[in-house]
Amino acid sequence: MTTMNLIDDHCHLTHVLYKDDLNDVLKRAKAANIKRILVSGVNPPSNREVLKLVQQHPGILRASLGIYPIDALGLAEGDSGLPLQKTPIDIDAELQFINQHKDQITAIGEIGMDFHWADKETTYQQQSDNFRKIIRFAKQIKKPIVIHSRKAEAECIQILAEEIPNKEIPIVQHCFSGKKSLIKQAQELGHYFSIPTNLIKSDQFQTLIKMVPLQQITTETDGPWLSPYKDQKNEPAFVLDAIKKIAELKQLSETAVAQQIWENYCTVYGEK
Ligand SMILES: [Zn+2]
Repeated sequence: MTTMNLIDDHCHLTHVLYKDDLNDVLKRAKAANIKRILVSGVNPPSNREVLKLVQQHPGILRASLGIYPIDALGLAEGDSGLPLQKTPIDIDAELQFINQHKDQITAIGEIGMDFHWADKETTYQQQSDNFRKIIRFAKQIKKPIVIHSRKAEAECIQILAEEIPNKEIPIVQHCFSGKKSLIKQAQELGHYFSIPTNLIKSDQFQTLIKMVPLQQITTETDGPWLSPYKDQKNEPAFVLDAIKKIAELKQLSETAVAQQIWENYCTVYGEK
């Protein structure tokens, strides 16, 4: 079998749960043929941590800087394991920071809207204003965007269609949990779907894999979250298990699946 190049295009390796074993996590990733890991930021302090970490492992890590919709509103609470953003983010200032580091980053994300953690009625206007502003910025600097759309799938698709009418930049739907009609809508608009490793036990993602052409699929962990295994935190090496499941669902070889997803990764994120 030829060597596979696997990718995890959405992971939070700066999370406190990786603090003590990051080197082992990266070793296991390399042993499992993971070629690239996009480390995702969610707010100003986490974006700075992402840049720093990626500089330390330039071979395998890539940076994706983002403004998580809940953090943007200053509504984040509790201990997520990532830096807590207690006050609304100054979006303009953070976009300026990202602009200054645009040559060091591969994507903008995660960004989007969320009506699970924030009330739709009272926050729709602010969330959609923020989202549009970030999309326009990403278009300006010509970077792909990674979308978080929890309980806001239809609203995000609508705004993306308005702001990016001609596929000006690639759109990656991270962990998309919308119903079938919305999967179809996003697929027809040319969005990519980044499928987490918990696909192996998730009907939602297995349905999505069956509906969407492999040319529009990428793989992620969203680690440390969404682990496919009960007592283990998620980590990039588990992408191999997702590849096996996709191969089974698509009735293709694992090598063929991995090869196509690697090509998708290169297309979306501008690598060769
Ligand atoms: Zn995430």
